[in-house]
Amino acid sequence: MPFNGSDSRRLRRFRELVEETARACAPEDAAALRTELDELVDERALAEAVIDRTGALVVVLDREGYVRRWNAACARATGYSAEEMLGRSLWDLILPEERDGVRATLDALRAGRATTTHENHWIARDGQRRLVSWSNASLLDEAGEVRAIVATGLDITERTQAEVALRAQAKRLEALAEASRVFASGLDYKTTLDTVARRLCELIGDGALIRVVSPDGNWLVPVAVYHPSPERAALRRRIIAAAPQRTDEGITAGPLATGRTLRIPALSQERVRNEMKPEYWPYLEGVTSLLIAPLAQRHEVFGHITLMRDAGGAPYTADDEALLEDLAHRAAQAIENARLYSDAQNAVAARDEFLSIASHELRTPLTALRLALGNMRRVTSREALERLPPEHVERVLGAAERQGQRLEKLVAALLDVSRIHMGKLDLDLEEVELGAVVTDALAQLEDEASQTGSTLSASGTPVRGAWDRLRLSQVVTNLLSNAVKYGAGKPVEVSYGPSATGAVLVVRDQGIGISASDQPQIFERFERAVSSRNYGGLGLGLYIVRRIVEAHGGTIRVESAPGKGSTFQVELPLRPLCARPGHGALDPAAAH
Ligand code: ADP
Repeated sequence: MPFNGSDSRRLRRFRELVEETARACAPEDAAALRTELDELVDERALAEAVIDRTGALVVVLDREGYVRRWNAACARATGYSAEEMLGRSLWDLILPEERDGVRATLDALRAGRATTTHENHWIARDGQRRLVSWSNASLLDEAGEVRAIVATGLDITERTQAEVALRAQAKRLEALAEASRVFASGLDYKTTLDTVARRLCELIGDGALIRVVSPDGNWLVPVAVYHPSPERAALRRRIIAAAPQRTDEGITAGPLATGRTLRIPALSQERVRNEMKPEYWPYLEGVTSLLIAPLAQRHEVFGHITLMRDAGGAPYTADDEALLEDLAHRAAQAIENARLYSDAQNAVAARDEFLSIASHELRTPLTALRLALGNMRRVTSREALERLPPEHVERVLGAAERQGQRLEKLVAALLDVSRIHMGKLDLDLEEVELGAVVTDALAQLEDEASQTGSTLSASGTPVRGAWDRLRLSQVVTNLLSNAVKYGAGKPVEVSYGPSATGAVLVVRDQGIGISASDQPQIFERFERAVSSRNYGGLGLGLYIVRRIVEAHGGTIRVESAPGKGSTFQVELPLRPLCARPGHGALDPAAAH
């Protein structure tokens, strides 16, 4: 029965009165009176049941604002029972910052103004906030005065939370889709990285840093620094450029080593001081939360993206972490694509440069050859030829011959490169004595050396191996010819002999030298460390040398410094590991 205690008492009293009246009435009137009372009681019970069973919150306030009715839904939403609430005011339940709004609504209703709707939060007994959407109306008495205020509300807490979560989810999905589109269209490496950093700051905030691991794997190279405040971004760029960081130091070392994202919701200055070197303290000043995601491609970590939250902002959440991880994954792909694209562009540029150098290099001896031929044509008649001093004829023919040889060398180098490229550098192994090859090469280069003023000398102990004679001779002449070309007219020394692993050949000059940064590239195709204006050449010699040495199972390295000359050292095993013997191949024992 939905009647409360006082209602039941009143009803009992009312029934007694009706019974008294009924006894004094005619029997049909008495029966009608009792039926009417029963119907009234039924209707009242039904109305009470509806109010109590409805899922909506129903509160009735009197004119003064005290609670007169508090249905079961109100009790469920707040944890306060009807007994506790009846006769109380609502103020304690209402969120302090919303009280003014609620008061204005009640005043309007009390003044008999129109029905109103609004939303406000109730604070439940357990401290939880419930968001309720209210529809309020004032009840008037017969005189038109406000008797009570009826508020019907729907608890929309869960629905609103779900909506907020859905909206956030939609925003993230939209962000991911947009980021993928941006990443996919940005083929230029630098632009892609800048876009990645900026988009991350906009989506998650506040500052972003992207660094990639240096080719030797030891250092972190900053590639994009972003912060919405240009001054802050500039300061961070300065700090990071002035203090290079190793891959195994600082807070980033963990994510780089494990490939797992690191989230530090509350970053303490103490942690910064413990884990970062002092140069980085100003970088992280005012940063209260940190999120570091590794950049990985095919399980290989090649960099990281770090997000930094400025003081005052909320700590990074697990959702932020999931979003960053997803974006880092896409960014890694975009970066890889951009890198491949830039590599391809560099290769195309190198090839174009090579073609222009090659045509220049080929044209020089051709012009000289044409001049020599023109010279000879002018003296085609027998008498003219007889009048000409023989030294002159000899000189012209000698020059023509040299230019022809130079052309032949260039064409041979081009052929070698394409052969190596197609993997067809076959070795024709036979017993070869290294000292003899050196002596031959010295003889070939004497003219060249005398033109530059360099003297050539060789010393060593004979050493025999199973090598390709012509290819080995190419190695020695290429190294010697470079030593003469870049040797600044100073002496060039060659030494050779047995070594712990086989044979060693060293070519040393005292010329212009090679900077440390150029040294790794000079053994690549078309790579040159000098300008083609000062020194002719195709940039193929050392590439061919390296490939021949490697085909023999050997190694080549250079030690050099600008202005201090260069020393090239070749180590060769006495017989190639996977030798494919050509004609004249050796019995293994004969090599020793
Ligand atoms: P090229 O001499 O035709 O340019 P190489 O492949 O033989 O091509 O050499 C590549 C580059 O290495 C040269 O362009 C030059 O910059 C550098 N180099 C090679 N040998 C020496 C040396 N002995 N001294 C200084 N630089 C050298």
